[in-house]
Formats: sequence, C-alpha cells, structure tokens
Amino acid sequence: MRDPGFGQSFTDHMVVARYGATSGWSEPEVVPFAEVRVSPAALGLHYGQEIFEGLKAYRQPDGGVALFRPDANAARFDLSADRLAMPRLPDGTFTATCIDLVRHDESFVPSVSGQSLYLRPIMVATEAALGVRAAQQYLYAVIASPAGSYFPGGVRPLSVWTTETYVRAVAGGTGAAKCAGNYAASLAAKAEATERGCDEALWLDAIERRWIEELSGMNVMFVASKQIVTPPAGGTILDGVTRKSILQLARDLGFDVVERPIAIDELFDGAFDEAFACGTAAVIAPIGTVTSPRGDATFADVGPVALALRDALLDVQEGRTDDRHGWLVRVPTTSAVPST
Ligand SMILES: *Cc1c(COP(=O)(O)O)cnc(C)c1O
Repeated sequence: MRDPGFGQSFTDHMVVARYGATSGWSEPEVVPFAEVRVSPAALGLHYGQEIFEGLKAYRQPDGGVALFRPDANAARFDLSADRLAMPRLPDGTFTATCIDLVRHDESFVPSVSGQSLYLRPIMVATEAALGVRAAQQYLYAVIASPAGSYFPGGVRPLSVWTTETYVRAVAGGTGAAKCAGNYAASLAAKAEATERGCDEALWLDAIERRWIEELSGMNVMFVASKQIVTPPAGGTILDGVTRKSILQLARDLGFDVVERPIAIDELFDGAFDEAFACGTAAVIAPIGTVTSPRGDATFADVGPVALALRDALLDVQEGRTDDRHGWLVRVPTTSAVPST
C-alpha cells in the first residue's frame, strides 16, 4: 500500500451527534462523510469553544483491529469539555462511537507495520448567537484518516527552537485541555522555528521562561543513562496518552522514571544523552538539536533508548507482544481469523 501520509484523506463515514441544552445528546449516528452545515453565527466560530482528540486503530496479527487506550482519550475529552464549559458526552459514548466508525470503515485500516487509522473526535459550539457565554448547542463528530509512518524515509531526528517570544500555557489556563485555541496560538512560534531552520517550537514555562514544558503537539523526554526524565503533568502541559504509556513501558524495561521540572540550562550542560518527543501521531520522534537564544544542545541523532521505547510501544499497539496492561480494545470486525 502507498504510504498515506498524515491527514490527507478521509474514510467513507463519520460519526455525528448533536446536543441541545434541553434535549441533551442525540443518539450518535454513523453517516457518509460529508460537509457539515453550521451557521456563520455559530458560537464556536466566534469564541473558540472547540475541543478535539486523536487516537489510532491498529491492524492486529490475526487480521483484526484494535484501538489503543480509547478510554484514556475519553477521560481527557471530558477534562477538556469541563475546562471549556462544554457538556460531557454520556459515559461510554466516546469509545463506542470510535469503535462504530472503525467497524464501518475497517477496510481503511492499513495492514503495513507503522501505519494505522487515525481517529479525530471533535466537539464544537454550534448555537447561532453572539455574546460571550457557554453555547446551548454543540456538534460532536468523529472522522478517520489513514496514517502513514511519521518518518516514511526512516526515523530522522527533529530540530527544535526554544522560543522566548511566546508562551503556550500558564497555570489556570487551557494548557492541559486539548482545545483548538492552543494550537492556533502555537503557530506564530512554529513560524519562528521555521525561520531559524528548525522543525518545531519547544515551549518553556510562562513565568520564568526557564522550565521545559513540551512541543506544540507532543510531550518531551530526556535520557541520562538508565534514567528517563520528563516534566510533570502539573496543569500547564497536555497529559499525553503516549507519555503515560512510555513511562509505564520504561518502568517495565527497568528504567528509572523521573517526573520533575527540567531547566533549559541542564541541556546545555550536557546532562542528557538523548532527547525525544512523543505523541499519538509520531509515537516517538528523536530530537537531535535544541536551539535557543541562550545556547544550543545536541543529542544522539537516533538514540538507542528512544528506539527501544518506540519498538516496545509499537509492539503493543500492533499486537506483537502481550498486552499486559490491557491497553488494546478490540473492534468487532469481520476480518479477524479466530486463533486455533
Ligand atoms: C495531543 C497532544 C500531545 C500528545 O498527546 P497524546 O495523547 O500522546 O497523543 C502532547 N502535547 C499536546 C500539546 C497535545 O495537544
């Protein structure tokens, strides 16, 4: 199969449910993928009440399909909804609708290792009105897009630029919510990174501009011999499902896992051998260089620890090893060959 890239094409169906303040949530439906009609007065278009999620379905060795930790994404969707004063979905609806969509569009789940079907649930305020308040009507939708390996030509290290011009999040803000506005606000920093010849922006804390937070769409980790060090999920960073999973797998593999604030200066002192970013889309992306107004740091291009953790996680996701933590949720499909 040709490598599908990322987010380029969509499957035949989507899930749609609508919410009204008095009627509650409608029964979610799987319908043909099509444009959705919203009023130009929809509150979400004006004031940014919009949250989303990202998770993947993986082809399994028996031909079946499994979702990776959808309940963790469901819990985060609730957290994001709470933060943006949006209604939660009924319990179980998030995972059930993801399963339903994959069942309908199972033929789009690639069978090539490193490829998967990316699911994108969203919720947006649709009530037509002006005035800054929580909307009374919302649209929930799930779309799906076949995803290639993040590095089709082989794993390549990222270069990141540490911006001191912009900040992503502050305690009490929306940093821990997966909301569209966080991404909109990150684009100017991405442009700054591009100007410096770097791939992505690395965020520092908003108060001291000293403590490393994360990238715009990925968490960040550092390796010093048998230690994995990552900033704590204390309210300003997005608590990634990949982050959580890698920390668990690292413990399983005998690494010492430390969640603590990391000062940017530690990188310049050569305290770490490896740096990598992690998130659903890329799984693990090694970081080769960190450039900042205060100094630069280089790391192993593609470090052995990053690669080992990447393999360990993909082995679980693609069903090659025992799913000892119960992370896979099987999708009832017609393709699975019953094991004998
Ligand atoms: C989605 C996201 C991540 C990664 O989360 P995963 O659940 O691992 O995909 C990290 N940081 C930000 C800012 C994000 O939006």
